[in-house]
Amino acid sequence: MSARSKKKQSIVIATHNLDKLTEMQTVLQDLDIPLLTLSDFPEIDSIEETGTTLEENSLIKARTVYKITKLPVIADDTGLEVDALNGDPGVFTGRYAGENATYKQNIDKLLLALQEVPNEKRTARFRTVVSFIDDTKELQTEGLVQGIITEDPKGNKGFGYDPVFFIPDLNKTFAELEEEEKNKISHRGLALQNLRKLLKDSI
Ligand code: IMP
Repeated sequence: MSARSKKKQSIVIATHNLDKLTEMQTVLQDLDIPLLTLSDFPEIDSIEETGTTLEENSLIKARTVYKITKLPVIADDTGLEVDALNGDPGVFTGRYAGENATYKQNIDKLLLALQEVPNEKRTARFRTVVSFIDDTKELQTEGLVQGIITEDPKGNKGFGYDPVFFIPDLNKTFAELEEEEKNKISHRGLALQNLRKLLKDSI
């Protein structure tokens, strides 16, 4: 399907990560706007994240996809910022254990790096920056959630670092939450809710 044959009011969700895509589709499903994904645009290859901040990388993804599709685009970039590691892995969260690292390899590396760190110093946050582009504007919103990195993985829902990201108020890791519960409080869920507030008059 070519970009021109797509309905004008569609929004493209610009991620190749199927786990993130599922969450974003769930949060945005009641918008009453058809959501397209990058699988509708096979000509768009993986997008290199050459920025040094989440803001830059989120915008790079959105601009790349907008340039090709000429349709409204939503892109996100997410980082895990661990205080005991001076904010790392940050922009390198997805490739912490190497370019094509699996979720498990990334978790293993993180737990090893925090091996000697006591519970009260294992504080961390997930931060998401969402970018929206259409033919009249570029917008960015942020969402963040505070948590604690556990000593061992727990739970089998979610993806990525979810099994080691513990939410004290809920006494659960992200991987022990249903998707709906996670979306209500998560970095990505909050960033998308903030975007929806900004967009409410225009879409
Ligand atoms: P991205 O750069 O936004 O694609 O995200 C980088 C990496 O962060 C992903 O590959 C995951 O490992 C991790 N990540 C992003 N969002 C989440 C989340 O909601 N839970 C756990 N890990 C996440």
